[in-house]
Amino acid sequence: MSVPELFDTHAHLHFPEFADDRSAVLERARTAGVQRLVTIGTDAATSAAALALAARETGVWAAAGIHPHDAAGADETAFAEIERLARDSRVVAIGEIGLDFFRNLSPREDQERTFRRLLQLARRVGKPALVHCRDAHAETLAILEDGGVRDTGGIMHCFSGDVAIARRCLDLGLVISLAGPVTYPNARALPDVARFVPGDRLVVETDCPFLPPQGHRGRRNEPAYLALTAARVAELRGEPLARLGPQMSATARRLFGVE
Ligand SMILES: [Zn+2]
Ligand SMILES: [Zn+2]
Repeated sequence: MSVPELFDTHAHLHFPEFADDRSAVLERARTAGVQRLVTIGTDAATSAAALALAARETGVWAAAGIHPHDAAGADETAFAEIERLARDSRVVAIGEIGLDFFRNLSPREDQERTFRRLLQLARRVGKPALVHCRDAHAETLAILEDGGVRDTGGIMHCFSGDVAIARRCLDLGLVISLAGPVTYPNARALPDVARFVPGDRLVVETDCPFLPPQGHRGRRNEPAYLALTAARVAELRGEPLARLGPQMSATARRLFGVE
C-alpha cells in the first residue's frame, strides 16, 4: 500500500535531539510518506547547521532566521550571517521569525526590531517568511502587513489562532500551517480552522522535536509523525488524505520553489 506524499514544512532536524539517530529518523520519515522537509534555523548558528544538513540530504531544505526568543542576542554580525546564508540556493525561506509575547524570552522591542529587519531581508532575497506567533496576533499581523509580506508570501507556522485570525492571515496572502496541537482533545479553535482554510492555502508541519501529536505526547517528535497530524486534518475536513496530502505538498513546493 502506498502512503500519501507529505511535506513537513517546519522541522528542526539539525537540533542536537537528533544527533544520535538522524539517519534513522529520516528513513522513518520517508517510509511514512514524508519525502520533503524544511529544517528551520532559530539563530545564526542553528541556521548554518540547518543549511549544512540540507546540503547533504536529498529532500531537505533549510530556512535561516532568528527566533523571537533569540532576538535579544541579535547583533550586526548575526544579521550579516543570516543574510549570507539566505542567499544560498538550499535556503528556501526566512525563518523562523516573529513575535512571542507568551514567554517573552527577549524584550518586545528586540523581538519587533529583529522581525522587521528579517522581513526586509525576505523581500531583498525574494524568499517567503516563516512566521512564529504566540499571544501576539495583532502585533504580528500589523508588522507583516507593514513589512510587505504580500510580496514574499509566507507561512503562519504552528497556527494557534481562531477562524477570524486565519481569515486575516489569508487576506495577507499567507499559507496556514497546522501542527500537532490540532490532534489534541483540547484543540480549541483548530478543528474549525482546519475546516475553514481553503485546501490550496493549507500545509502541515511537525515543529519537531517539539509538539508531538496525540499518542506521542511527552516524547520527542519526529517528521514521520506528520502522517498522524495530516490524517487528523483530512478527517476534520472530510476529505481523503490521498488527495489532501499531495495538495498540501504541492502548495509547499510552490511556495518554497522546490521540485
Ligand atoms: Zn515557532
Ligand atoms: Zn519551530
